Formats: sequence, structure tokens, C-alpha cells
Amino acid sequence: MDINQIRWGETAAKKIIKNLEKRRMAGSYAPTAAQAKDEILSMIPKGSIVYRCGSMTASNMGLWEDMARLPGIEIIDPYITGITPEEGLELRRKGMTSDVMIAGSNAITLDGKLVNLDGMGNRVSAMAFGPRKVILVVGVNKIAADLESAIARVKHYAAPVNAARIGVDTPCVKTGLCADCGSPQRICNMWSIIEGHMIKDRIHVILVGDTLGY
Ligand code: SF4
Repeated sequence: MDINQIRWGETAAKKIIKNLEKRRMAGSYAPTAAQAKDEILSMIPKGSIVYRCGSMTASNMGLWEDMARLPGIEIIDPYITGITPEEGLELRRKGMTSDVMIAGSNAITLDGKLVNLDGMGNRVSAMAFGPRKVILVVGVNKIAADLESAIARVKHYAAPVNAARIGVDTPCVKTGLCADCGSPQRICNMWSIIEGHMIKDRIHVILVGDTLGY
């Protein structure tokens, strides 16, 4: 990103952090993915059970390799290779009672609302309730001006691109555009809009001054 994009990201992040605080959520800004990773690792209490949820941002920054090196940490990882779909579901169920979950967010609005869309719902349900702490790592490319543009971003950009990445059999993978499909492999089934939380600071959003994930 050039200096103008960086300045825009910093300014938008400051505004979002203030608005998250008004909504009883916490926010912070990390200029780079490496700094975001260090911040996340420093937030994990010793002995924690950590639930890995879908986030290209977290994966691409090498978070899970470094997390595995922390002493006394158990990672619940449904993305581990070689497990059956049933074992993956069981791990997702177990993740609901973890100490910390880590995920991305498909979009965040300038007024601090988190907008997400899931195929199975394990990620959005755990964001809402279950894990004691929720850490969301979000590149400034996920910032949307308002709820309407956040939903449009998720539906017409993040979802088709994610479908292509996963390689599901849906129309958007062939055409690049959402067809509001009825495919059994549809990844767009459950919307979540988080406007706040009764448990103060349970949700912490780390905004990263870079283009990360979709
Ligand atoms: S609804 Fe179907 S076509 Fe549209 S983005 Fe989701 S998976 Fe793709």
C-alpha cells in the first residue's frame, strides 16, 4: 500500500476503534501483519484452549505455526489435514467451549458493526457466544462505509472469491459472480451482524493496515 492508503487505513481504524468501544467491544490497530501476529500471540493466556476458525488473514501471517510453538497451548484445528468430515464437525463443536477463538471478519463498518456470512455457522455462532474470548483479525481492505455496503462486499466479492478458493461446486466459481444458488455446497447460508456484546471486551478486533484476505 502507498502512503495515502496507509493514512486512510489509520484514520478509518481510529474511528472504528472508538465506535467498537461504544459497542462494548475492544479494538486495536497494527500497522503490519507481523505486528498483528505478535499482538495476538501476546493476548493468549498460558494454558489456553484456542479455537482456529476460518481466516486467510491469520493463516497467511503464519499465526498457527507460531501459536503451536507457545508452551501449554492446545489448538482446536478443524483445518488439520487428513481428518474426516465427521472429525472436522466434532472439532468445531469442541471449539464452542474454547478459551479463545481466532477468526477473520468478512467486513467491518466504519461505525463498528461486524458483518459475516457462513456456510455451516460454526464461526458466526462462536463469535456470538461460546468461547470466552474472540479475537478477530481484519485487514483495512474489509472496511465498508456502512451496513449496506458491507453486506454487498460480503455477498458479491468475499463469498464468490472464497467459494473459488475452497473449490466448491457453485455457479460463482464458474462465473465469478453470485447467482444466489441452491447448491448443496453453497457457502452463503448464515448471516451475522454483530452490533455489540453484553460481555464487555469479549470481542477484540485487531485492524491491520494492509490488504489481507478477502
Ligand atoms: S450464494 Fe452460491 S453462487 Fe452466491 S456466492 Fe454463495 S455459493 Fe456462490
